[in-house]
Amino acid sequence: MNLCKLCKIRNADKENSHIIPKFLGKPLFKSPSHRAAMEINKGGRNKKIQDIPKEDFILCSNCEQKFSILETYFARKLKSINDFKNRKNDFRFTQVHSNNLLIPENLDPIFFKLFTVSLFWRVSISTLFLYEKYKLPELIEEEFRVFLSKNLKEKHRDLIEVLPKIKNTPNYHFVVFKPEFNNRDFIGGLTAYQTSKNIYTIFTSDLVFQFYSELIQTDPIIDLISNLQDEEVRIILSSNENWKALGSAVIKKVINSTH
Ligand SMILES: [Zn+2]
Repeated sequence: MNLCKLCKIRNADKENSHIIPKFLGKPLFKSPSHRAAMEINKGGRNKKIQDIPKEDFILCSNCEQKFSILETYFARKLKSINDFKNRKNDFRFTQVHSNNLLIPENLDPIFFKLFTVSLFWRVSISTLFLYEKYKLPELIEEEFRVFLSKNLKEKHRDLIEVLPKIKNTPNYHFVVFKPEFNNRDFIGGLTAYQTSKNIYTIFTSDLVFQFYSELIQTDPIIDLISNLQDEEVRIILSSNENWKALGSAVIKKVINSTH
């Protein structure tokens, strides 16, 4: 049996590990019109998938439990984020150039970073075809593994306790988008791409996560909108038009990449 890819100590005995947590893709499987929730096979033919993709024997049960704790907690926070218009006291709103930022007051930035890094790491270690176009540079993948392995906990209480003690988070830009309106007629899709030389993007039903693998040559505005810092969580509210454009760009990219 292979060793668990996170701890590299125990056997990877866990079956059906989700690469992207179920709650971040569930809405995609509710309606037949959500054409982005597709697996594109190598012949270029589209095949609809029925459930969030799962993978066997990549993690041990202990490490799977650590991700499960992280996800359960984030799923609750995401509900609040999606309902931000009715919970104005829980958020701050700021504008940076043309970007409207949503800043959740009750979401720990270190926790959010752990969750975000866990997504990028899991997609990178996955061998599923859906994520084949995405692989982080080896050194970064290892840096993320060490960060997660060291700080994730099997119990919620232990995770909450460790958060204030985490000092060195991975020093990269993480940019997160969410549609301003929760109209799910158009969704970016449940997929991941290296969208340009140094930018990796994960599309889920509720949020789009971007990771910049280098700090140099980036737009100075990014310092003001990204989650490189650990003081607050920044989510960019995307207009309907931009969200739709993002979705179509992905679908186009998925289709083109199979030819
Ligand atoms: Zn493990």
